[in-house]
Amino acid sequence: MSAARPRPAALRRLRSAGASGGRDGGSGYGTGDRGSQLQGTPGIPRQSRRRKSLAIAYEAGQGDGAEPRRARWEPPNWREQLERIRVMRRSRDAPVDEMGVQKCYDSSAPPQVMRYQVLLALMLSSQTKDQVTSAAMLRLRRRGLTVDSVLQMDDETLGQIIYPVGFWRNKVKYIKQTTAILKQKYGGDIPSTVEELVQLPGVGPKMAHLAMHIAWDSVAGIAVDTHVHRISNRLQWVKKETKYPEETRVALEEWLPRDLWKEINWLLVGFGQQTCLPVNPRCSQCLNQDICPAAKRL
Ligand code: SF4
Repeated sequence: MSAARPRPAALRRLRSAGASGGRDGGSGYGTGDRGSQLQGTPGIPRQSRRRKSLAIAYEAGQGDGAEPRRARWEPPNWREQLERIRVMRRSRDAPVDEMGVQKCYDSSAPPQVMRYQVLLALMLSSQTKDQVTSAAMLRLRRRGLTVDSVLQMDDETLGQIIYPVGFWRNKVKYIKQTTAILKQKYGGDIPSTVEELVQLPGVGPKMAHLAMHIAWDSVAGIAVDTHVHRISNRLQWVKKETKYPEETRVALEEWLPRDLWKEINWLLVGFGQQTCLPVNPRCSQCLNQDICPAAKRL
């Protein structure tokens, strides 16, 4: 699964969509800059106006006998590597560009329906090629893909439509459960925080972050899938080798400037599909081969 840049027009529609609730309301992933929007949102507790007192730590300066402040770690060459990946991604012709989740929803549908379709495409996309997800979404949309239409559909029919997406039997179950929760708890919309999104059956952190990026145009964290995880380790963009995508997300968020958090997913997913392949990466065609720590080993 993957994501690429959403089209601005579609995003504007999605954003205008009655997102009256807070998006990053106090979650550990949140930006914390939307707190005022949370006030008065049904189901979301009011935040106290009283600020907690903060301990202020003095930064030790040079010459006062204390250790000088350490510079924040960042990987050597990362800017150069990133720039070269941007060059390699210029043609935007990877599967994620043509069939990623941002291309799977009906941009003429009401915003709430679009957001539901984004979430559904994300759920289908796990362990599934973009081409297969895209085709399954098309079949679903032909029947009118809404919360109500999915709730009315029996499991067998839903399974037949989404087959052969990976783990389709489990996904039928998760889609039904999640859709019922959206109907009961969120008025048919999708939640607008990562914290709430990951509570939905079948929705993991990567999907939640991508749903925030694509459906809510809000960046609460980096969406790390298998491509982002693998390439970050190959380029040593993590201080210590990481085993799981969630570890990679935390490690990247420690140093990668926030304005790159959305772009990095799109860049690395396409780069991983075309050049830095999981097996037999095409290092001889890669502009980073002279500054990639993994190039010599592979
Ligand atoms: S040199 Fe090879 S391993 Fe390194 S980023 Fe390029 S394709 Fe990936």
